[in-house]
Amino acid sequence: MALISIEGLHKRFGTNEVLKGIDLSIEAGEVVAIIGKSGSGKSTLLRCLNGLEAYQSGKITVENTPVTQDETDLRTLRLRVGMIFQQFNLFPHLSAGRNVMLAPMIVKGTSEAEAKTTAQKVLDRVGLGHKFDAFPDQLSGGQQQRVAIARALAMEPRALLCDEITSALDPELVNEVLQVVKSLAADGMTLAMVTHEMRFARDVCDRVIFMHLGKVHEIGPPEDVFANPKTPELQQFLGQLN
Ligand code: ADP
Ligand code: MG
Repeated sequence: MALISIEGLHKRFGTNEVLKGIDLSIEAGEVVAIIGKSGSGKSTLLRCLNGLEAYQSGKITVENTPVTQDETDLRTLRLRVGMIFQQFNLFPHLSAGRNVMLAPMIVKGTSEAEAKTTAQKVLDRVGLGHKFDAFPDQLSGGQQQRVAIARALAMEPRALLCDEITSALDPELVNEVLQVVKSLAADGMTLAMVTHEMRFARDVCDRVIFMHLGKVHEIGPPEDVFANPKTPELQQFLGQLN
């Protein structure tokens, strides 16, 4: 049974058709990398999965809950699917711990004491237990992104969607974030990751999805997609990275 199921997904912005019929299933515990040129629809796909964008036709379900713009569905969905962005978007006036405590208290109605215990646990999980009281401007970019991951984990999601989460980081900080993602993958978290980190995709992901012009152009295990790209578009895309 797929955790995330997408059938015939079409999404337009005005007359610009950005997703042109996406069919994709992601199994529980699966780690998929989504690659492709800028503008190919990667972010829009993730945003549709999380209910951040409405779509014109097709069907998306997450653990049997349909992804619609219905408020009840959206609330259920956002408890199950966490999203992490390129920009960390931490509240600057709140400590790392308070940033992590916020959503469980507001969205789930978790008590302050319980939220604090959970926040400490998930900060420990990303290697930042000792930074509970630090403010975002006292943390490196890599640490801030790890707090953002902890914030998502505090909601106990069934799946995490990551949109270029290392793209805003200085190169020397990329690895600490990827290591956290890798450890989540090893623990069985379901992950869909838009990424430019091809080595990470090759080493950690179960499947790679190459998007081109709003479609899944190629899909397969990383050893096939990277070593034996079938279409000229993927060959060209991979060629440009070297
Ligand atoms: P990617 O993440 O692969 O770079 P996006 O999903 O961000 O691609 O964008 C795909 C296309 O959708 C682009 O042509 C982009 O200009 C367009 N697009 C994305 N978001 C919006 C929006 N909010 N309004 C209008 N057009 C958008
Ligand atoms: Mg994008």
